[in-house]
Amino acid sequence: MLDKREFYINGKWVKPAKANDFEVINPATEEPFAVISLGGQADTDAAVAAARNAFTTWSVTSKQTRIDLLQSIYDEYKRRADDMAEAISNEMGAPITLSQTQQFTTGISHIKKFIKALQEFEFEHPIDGHPTEMILHEPIGVCGLITPWNWPMNQICLKVIPAIAVGSTTILKPSEVSPLSAHVFSEIMDTAGCPAGVYNYLNGDGVGVGTQLSSHKDVDMISFTGSTRAGTAITKAAADTVKRVTLELGGKGANVVYADADENAVKRGTQHVFNNTGQSCNAPTRMLVERSIYDNAVEIAAETAKNHPVGNPAEEGPHMGPLVSEAQFNKVQGLIEVGIKEGARLVAGGLGRPEGINKGFFARPTVFADVDNSMQIAQEEIFGPVMVMIPFDDEEQAMQIANDTPYGLTNYVQTQDPEKAKRAARAMRSGMIRMNGDGGAAASPFGGYKQSGNGREGGKWGLEDFLEVKHVTGWNA
Ligand code: NAD
Repeated sequence: MLDKREFYINGKWVKPAKANDFEVINPATEEPFAVISLGGQADTDAAVAAARNAFTTWSVTSKQTRIDLLQSIYDEYKRRADDMAEAISNEMGAPITLSQTQQFTTGISHIKKFIKALQEFEFEHPIDGHPTEMILHEPIGVCGLITPWNWPMNQICLKVIPAIAVGSTTILKPSEVSPLSAHVFSEIMDTAGCPAGVYNYLNGDGVGVGTQLSSHKDVDMISFTGSTRAGTAITKAAADTVKRVTLELGGKGANVVYADADENAVKRGTQHVFNNTGQSCNAPTRMLVERSIYDNAVEIAAETAKNHPVGNPAEEGPHMGPLVSEAQFNKVQGLIEVGIKEGARLVAGGLGRPEGINKGFFARPTVFADVDNSMQIAQEEIFGPVMVMIPFDDEEQAMQIANDTPYGLTNYVQTQDPEKAKRAARAMRSGMIRMNGDGGAAASPFGGYKQSGNGREGGKWGLEDFLEVKHVTGWNA
């Protein structure tokens, strides 16, 4: 059993103020393999005090000092590739190939792109036409960073790196379900020479450390990625101290497949849903298909799901791993059951584990056809390998169904008519539109409309999230 009970506060590895052990379960074996501590108020206060103290000096460092630190983190992060991929695979079940080629590498590209964004960012500039009126972009202060388990390094790097890049200081609270990658990340920050207090890390659950950070009077901002439920709770807890809260929440992406889509569109969209076992906020889980090609599309999607390999995350390959936890497994099973009861047509997968697997939180790649958008399985984020298919008759109806959701994170469109694609891109209410399989560059803004959140992570937008804007008059050059 790995012992990972220490926190990283003020540049040192420290024991929690009070023991509160919590076991980390490997979702492929259902066995605990590591133990962490869940922190309490005294640990939160110590981390916040360290970050507050460090802000005094870190907030006035030169841009070059911060670029040098980021470069050092980048070098060290790359050096720890194997440890990181292994930690992610063990804690949340991503197959090792996925951990190495997607989970780990998102961190590399984010750090690299934030270095470039920082180099280019102008922290002081005059207002157009008013040379004596200056805009100063200043770090917001102490930032609580609360992250989920599904793409742990993606989310940690999208928060920690831009916050410290602009001169803010940080306290990371990763998901208690996937704390090991955060532990490796904290070792990286330590070895990279991050000054004491600029980056602090403690484990805890939502009702404990999560709420303590959100309501803390000495925390200036919370950057949160996770469920809409927790995002709402954090916003309420943060209200009394009027701190900035940026939220990256759930999604229920529409993938609009027109009759003139390329021939791979349906297969590509279905496989996309199963990537990371369907545990991605931007997964295209509602496939809307033009009626003239609908029957054929259902056949292709069902075939794709039936042929999608599922297997042991410790083994290399393109297979799908388990869901992250028993709770997630039960949630997905429950919603598959709801879909069957609602009268949707199950064309692949369904309840229970895949054939031949009798241990681990493995679910079956599942497709429901003839779904009505008002059904629970079309409205609720399932966060598992489950896709719903809905037919439509014309563009207007496709856009109406695509937008008929509380979410607005990522929508997709497949057509070879560029004008129709652009009309869809303008009509769909979401922070991101992906057309014809184009995944989008790193350093582009990632975030949602409506109940998918309010922040934009990545590139210069990610830096701006952690900055205040100051307007100064009478500035003599
Ligand atoms: P979750 O909301 O249960 O937990 C996320 C984090 O919030 C964890 O660290 C947890 O301990 C903490 N937390 C929980 N309740 C809290 C509270 N009341 N106060 C403070 N902190 C609290 O989510 P999860 O199950 O870990 O992650 C899955 C969710 O994350 C999905 O809904 C998914 O769509 C969303 N997500 C969104 C994005 C995005 O960028 N939009 C990216 C990845 C995941």
